[in-house]
Amino acid sequence: MIDRQIRELVRTRAQGRCEYCRMRQEYIPQMTFPIDHIIATQHGGTSTPDNLCLSCLRCNLQKGPNIAGLDPETGELVPIFHPRKQIWNEHFVLNGPFIEGISPVGRTTVKVLAFNHEQQVDLREALLADGWAFD
Ligand SMILES: [Zn+2]
Repeated sequence: MIDRQIRELVRTRAQGRCEYCRMRQEYIPQMTFPIDHIIATQHGGTSTPDNLCLSCLRCNLQKGPNIAGLDPETGELVPIFHPRKQIWNEHFVLNGPFIEGISPVGRTTVKVLAFNHEQQVDLREALLADGWAFD
């Protein structure tokens, strides 16, 4: 269980944005973004602010308890992006409606969290066409 005050802190800190794919809560008001354990509790992750982030439902479900994956370019085992320890812009770049990984961590996270699943790309494309931004 995550303390109510900590939940509020995480939501405020994230400014209503998924800390993995940058989808904004206001773009998907019908589903409240969950709080994600960056290192899953089954791997010893705690429910403290340094191990929590705001995640859209899709990233949260796709990530599950994963903490790493295989880099699609090298096949190496690489950790998933850590929103508290790493900087988004150093690992990802937006290319129209697509999110591209620009580092081993970025590429692995794009793959494991399925950032460019057809539905996500379609949604981002529609939002961009309506003048919404993701940065
Ligand atoms: Zn997301």
